[in-house]
Amino acid sequence: MTTPAYSPKLAYEIAMSQPQTHLFEVKLTVSNWDREVLDLKMPVWTPGSYLVREYAKQLQDFGAVTDVGEKLTATKIAKNHWQIQTNSSTEIQISYRMFANELTVRTNHLDATHGYFNPAALCFYVPGFEDCSIDLKIIPPDPSWKITTPLPEISPQTFLARDFDTLVDSPFEIGSQQIYDFTVLDKPHQLVVWGDGNLDPLMAIEDIKKIVEVEAKIFGGLPYEKYIFLLHLSPAGGGGLEHKDCCSLLYPRFSFQAGEKHNRFMQLVAHEFFHLWNVKRIRPAALEKFDYEGENYTPSLWFSEGTTSYYDLLIPRRAGIYDEQEFLAELSKEITRFMTTPGRLVQALSESSFDAWIKLYRPDANSSNSQMSYYLKGEMVTLLLDLLIRDRTKSTKSFDDVLVAMWEQFGKDEIGFTETQLKNIIEVIANQDLTEFYDRYIHGIEELPFNDYLYPFGIELKPVEANTPYLGIVVKSENGREVIKSVTSNSPAQLAGVDPGDELLAIDGFKVNADKLTDRLKSYQVGQQINLTIFHIDRLMTLPITLSTPQPQQYQLQTIENPADGQHQQLKAWLK
Ligand SMILES: [Zn+2]
Repeated sequence: MTTPAYSPKLAYEIAMSQPQTHLFEVKLTVSNWDREVLDLKMPVWTPGSYLVREYAKQLQDFGAVTDVGEKLTATKIAKNHWQIQTNSSTEIQISYRMFANELTVRTNHLDATHGYFNPAALCFYVPGFEDCSIDLKIIPPDPSWKITTPLPEISPQTFLARDFDTLVDSPFEIGSQQIYDFTVLDKPHQLVVWGDGNLDPLMAIEDIKKIVEVEAKIFGGLPYEKYIFLLHLSPAGGGGLEHKDCCSLLYPRFSFQAGEKHNRFMQLVAHEFFHLWNVKRIRPAALEKFDYEGENYTPSLWFSEGTTSYYDLLIPRRAGIYDEQEFLAELSKEITRFMTTPGRLVQALSESSFDAWIKLYRPDANSSNSQMSYYLKGEMVTLLLDLLIRDRTKSTKSFDDVLVAMWEQFGKDEIGFTETQLKNIIEVIANQDLTEFYDRYIHGIEELPFNDYLYPFGIELKPVEANTPYLGIVVKSENGREVIKSVTSNSPAQLAGVDPGDELLAIDGFKVNADKLTDRLKSYQVGQQINLTIFHIDRLMTLPITLSTPQPQQYQLQTIENPADGQHQQLKAWLK
């Protein structure tokens, strides 16, 4: 982009006078403008969440006037693009309202208790002037409402973003949130919580501190002045969205009990925090400069998300939040999810990354048959690469060294990396040509040979013996109906003509529901025929189906019998 000869001034004012209506009232003043036309565009997506979300669909009541209130003609020329005739006015005031009633980390939510927004989902940019700084003034509905954002406050309630990318990277929380300050490695941090539940903030902060320290150690310091963990407590469902100096976390309000649930929350924290390096600063080339108007395709999200997922499991172990056995149990669960997804043998990892925009974020009943998440397989591939490097170097090196090299060469200066550059760095650290590895497991769909890679660490992966004759459906009770949610490729059910959406009624003439299905199937033998009665597109049908060999539903990592000293030492080095 060429540097414009002059800079317009951009200032937002965001009010929420009737928060219960879920409408943010936005005013944008563009001054020092010297052209006859002013273009405004709203992003269609926000970085970190690779789906075109059409944020402009929530916009209403658009208008534009001059500084003396003269109405200007504004024409909408695309779904997210408005064009204003300025009548030679140098100051243009734009106003609109945005409906905000979607409580996720990547959308906006406003109600009587708080306002939360992601600037990508609320603010326009002026094409050609994305590098201009932006002032943003917040007008809360009540003077008691606090404002939290990673942006610097330049005057009361007014914040400064040095450019549009920085604005987009800075969510706002406005309301009566609880703010807990703490310090790690001499830098200020905050845990900011909206909502109530069974979170013990002080206990959470103790573990968050450990996570920050462990990750800082990998990358050699903290590349920010201040960091905010923004946590929304939700009725159900969770998620996270990473930013450079902050993350937004959504977590079920009563899911913080000590043990497994606490561990899972700490994995989410470790994941989003890790992203401040991997994906926010170490970015694939396609994301070096964001195109806010459409899809940004890259084959490398397996590294950005999958590697991050591997480390979100490993970091709480290194931080001492859980022990070696718990780590292996958590990893076993992840491997189970991977090994029970038939799509792993259909969609390659690089393809999964590229197609994130149309597949991962738009799952349907056939997704598990035809797709493989780049989070999950990326995590598995990073596991293999970490083990490979540790094996070849006697644990003098690990995948940590790949991260450090990526940080030094690309992240620090925010230079986008290509797929080939990433491969080269891994090859240098592993001291091995990885073309075949890539062809098989990243660009190809070969089964991952876990045990070959685990053996030098004295660990093996074993399926837990299955004993239910195989039918191949997943059923859920919904309002008293037993609905078939998915049907596995090439399973007896699929070959007989059962479809997702069919209603399950009976096996051999007797009613069956979701809870009892496995028990019922256990009363048959492999090779035996059952008569399955369903409603299929409203039609009552009974299908004869022959049950086949039980399929493993669970995999476990376990220590091999009598591991050699070398294996034991390698394991200790890996999970220390
Ligand atoms: Zn992530």
